[in-house]
Amino acid sequence: MAGKGGFNLAHQLGKEELYQKYAPSSFLKQALHDFGVDELRSWYSQLAIPTFVGTSGRIFPEKGISPADVLRKIKKKLQNQNVQVFTEHEFVGFTEDYIPIIKYQQEEKAIDADIFIFSLGGGSWKVTGVNSEWMQYFKNLGISTRPFQAANCGLNVDWPMSIQDFHIGKPLKNIAIRQEDRLLKGEAVISEYGIEGNAIYPISSSVRNVLNENKPVFISLDFKPNQSEEELLEKIQYLKPRNFAKALKLDAVSASLVKAYTTKEQFISPENYCCSVKNLKIPIKSLRPVEEAISTVGGIEISNLNSDFSLVDYPHMYCMGEMVNWDAPTGGFLLQGCFSMGAFVATQLLQHKKAD
Ligand SMILES: Cc1cc2nc3c(=O)[nH]c(=O)nc-3n(C[C@H](O)[C@H](O)[C@H](O)COP(=O)(O)OP(=O)(O)OC[C@H]3O[C@@H](n4cnc5c(N)ncnc54)[C@H](O)[C@@H]3O)c2cc1C
Repeated sequence: MAGKGGFNLAHQLGKEELYQKYAPSSFLKQALHDFGVDELRSWYSQLAIPTFVGTSGRIFPEKGISPADVLRKIKKKLQNQNVQVFTEHEFVGFTEDYIPIIKYQQEEKAIDADIFIFSLGGGSWKVTGVNSEWMQYFKNLGISTRPFQAANCGLNVDWPMSIQDFHIGKPLKNIAIRQEDRLLKGEAVISEYGIEGNAIYPISSSVRNVLNENKPVFISLDFKPNQSEEELLEKIQYLKPRNFAKALKLDAVSASLVKAYTTKEQFISPENYCCSVKNLKIPIKSLRPVEEAISTVGGIEISNLNSDFSLVDYPHMYCMGEMVNWDAPTGGFLLQGCFSMGAFVATQLLQHKKAD
């Protein structure tokens, strides 16, 4: 399903910076170290998927290569290595002897294998086939899990009528968003339920953390990230309040937001107006539902896993990808994390095999 808003296969960053994009950063460090951005790009290129780095650092497949093409090429490579792919086979739990059961056309069968690798996905976008039913199967084995929560998602805001009535669907271009100590330049869109867009998704994790503590949470919009408050003030200090927005070249939606979220006293004072343009606080009600999120956190708790992603209590079973409770922003980091985990487990297993 990836691809609608740009299909990012990875993100060009140095190793140290890359580790910091993941939470907790230590969890994926070794996997990212061994199979990082360069290794992933070179693997793509071996699959005849040439990539390029966009201005934002995001890594895309060359023009004309769709997400479906990428998937097809990966599948072909696996099949060339004699991997058998069984579609419409559902994992439906474990036997009393902890053996996975697979259901196909109403028939259930326990699977005999030395090693099991699970990558059952997170909780969002059910249309891709993911659901969280597997969590109960692992809970039955004594594995601790955490319910899925939305990550990389839009934010719910109770918009005042002045925004509801006139600005739904409008973009906020070239803005910056502050949340705690983070500042992100990008775009956002005002929607019926709140706000979304590439400047919003990366802060949704820190918003979630504050909401989880039942504390009020605000994001701060900077409508003029390339100008200082002083520079703005120079432009409006001798003007009448009704001319402030025009003099600062604020578009209609930005001007309405400033008006809606400032008191009359703030609105008529040039100093306070500029301060609001640079730092407009919007209260956030909640996150969008898990189903709509680009990714989720939750799933198998990291404490259940050995450093090679096998389960401590069942070392012949491995869990990887979004079914494990780690987090990363959009922009290629999610797929990178999943591929790095996969490559790491594969390498470990091959080494064990050689040693036997
Ligand atoms: C719209 C959208 C766009 C995205 N764009 C990007 C992007 O551009 N770049 C990026 O880095 N990330 C992107 N992501 C995130 C990325 O796609 C995921 O993080 C990644 O696919 C997770 O991989 P995974 O293997 O853990 O899970 P998934 O890719 O979700 O795969 C899990 C698989 O397990 C199967 N499954 C689940 N339960 C069972 C069961 N009981 N039995 C059998 N099979 C089961 C599911 O059908 C599914 O095929 C996007 C996500 C979405 C929703």
